[in-house]
Amino acid sequence: MTTVTLSDLRKEFDDVTAVESIDLEVRDSEFLVIVGPSGCGKSTTLRLIAGLERATDGEVRMDGRDVVDDEPKERNVAMVFQNYALYPHMTGRRNMTFGMKSAGDFTDGEIDDLVAEAAEMLDIADLLDRKPGAMSGGERQRVALGRAIVRDPDVFLMDEPLSNLDAKLRIQMRAELSKLHTELETTTIYVTHDQTEAMTLGDRVAVMNDGRVQQVDPPQRLYDYPANRFVAEFIGDPAMNMLPATVDGADGGAPVLDHRAFTLPLPDDASSALDDRSSAVLGVRPEDLYLVEASDGAYPGSIDATVDVIEPLGDSLLLECTVGEDVIRANANPRADVDHGDALELRYDPERLHVFDADTGRALYHSATTDEAPVMHAGD
Ligand code: ATP
Repeated sequence: MTTVTLSDLRKEFDDVTAVESIDLEVRDSEFLVIVGPSGCGKSTTLRLIAGLERATDGEVRMDGRDVVDDEPKERNVAMVFQNYALYPHMTGRRNMTFGMKSAGDFTDGEIDDLVAEAAEMLDIADLLDRKPGAMSGGERQRVALGRAIVRDPDVFLMDEPLSNLDAKLRIQMRAELSKLHTELETTTIYVTHDQTEAMTLGDRVAVMNDGRVQQVDPPQRLYDYPANRFVAEFIGDPAMNMLPATVDGADGGAPVLDHRAFTLPLPDDASSALDDRSSAVLGVRPEDLYLVEASDGAYPGSIDATVDVIEPLGDSLLLECTVGEDVIRANANPRADVDHGDALELRYDPERLHVFDADTGRALYHSATTDEAPVMHAGD
C-alpha cells in the first residue's frame, strides 16, 4: 500500500504551462479523484505521476521516496486510459499479460492465477480468448482494467476511463469501480471532468483549475464548504447562484447582505468573518431556495423574483427568475402552480448561505454549522 505526495510540481510544454504548481498528498489506500475543466492540467498531472512526462520542477514521492527521475516501469503504477489502449491483434488474455513474463517479476503459474482472479472479479472470463474488435466498449474497458489489476501495482492511475461509455454503462461501471476499490484497497488516482463521477467515486476530491489544486476534501465537504467561487460553481448542478452584495452591520450590529433588490440577514457569527461595508458575493444553491406561493410578505430576507424560464426536471421544476438586475435559479416542487411572468417570493435555508470575497473569490463565510473547522481556501 502506498502514499503519493506531489510537491510544487510543475510542467511546461514550450510556451504552455500545463501544470502551474501542484501540492497534493494522496493517502494510503485512498481513492482520490482529480476533477476540473478541460485543459486545467489533470491528465498532465497523472502522466507526471506515471513517469510518462518529465516534470519541469517539483517532486513526486511514493511512500516518501522521490521517483521524479524514475522510469515509468520503476514506479510500479498501472494506468487505465479513456481509449482502452488495447492491442487489436491480441486476445483479451494476451492484452492483460503482455510484457509480464519478459519483465521476469511473475512465473507462468502466477500469471495464470492472477488472470483467473482478475477475470472473476471483473466477470470477463468469456472475453479472455476474444480480440478487442469482437468486444463492446464496456468489455474493452473491463479488459483494460484487468490488465491493470494483474500487475498488482502500488497505485492505479485512471484517466477518464469511463468517458467513452454510454450513460447507463458509466453508472454501472462506476459502482463496479467502487466495489473493486473496496476489495483491493489499492491507492487510486482517478482523473475526470465529470463532477458526478468525482463526487460518487472519491474518498476525497481534488478540484483543479488553471494548473493548480483549488481544494481537496471529501465530496460532501466540497459541496457544503467550497473554498472559493470556482469550487462553489464547479461542484453542484445546477450551479450555485452568485449575487453581488454589500456587507452591512458587521461592526457589532446585526450583519446583513444588501443586494440591490433585497436585504438578507446573516447569523450573528458572520460579523467576525466579514468586513463592514465591503463588497461581497452571496452564494446560494438553487436547491436551498424555496418557493412561497401564498406570501404574507413578513418573512425577513425573502427575495422577490419574476419567473422567466421553467424547466420541468421530473423530480423538481427548475425556475430561472429575475431578481432586480440579476438572474437566480431555484428548484421548486415539480407540481407547483407556476407560470412565466409570475411574481413570487423565494425563501432560503439560513444554514446554507455562502459569502465570497468580491475581488479574490475566496470563501469568507459559510452559514452551516460544523464541528470541524472548514477549509477556507487552498493552502490553509
Ligand atoms: P482534458 O480534460 O481536456 O483532457 P486536462 O485537464 O487533462 O484536459 P491536460 O491534457 O493536462 O488538461 O492539458 C493541460 C494544458 O497543457 C492544455 O492547455 C494542453 O493543451 C497543454 N498540453 C498538454 N499536453 C501537451 C503537450 N504534449 N504539448 C503541448 N501542450 C500540451
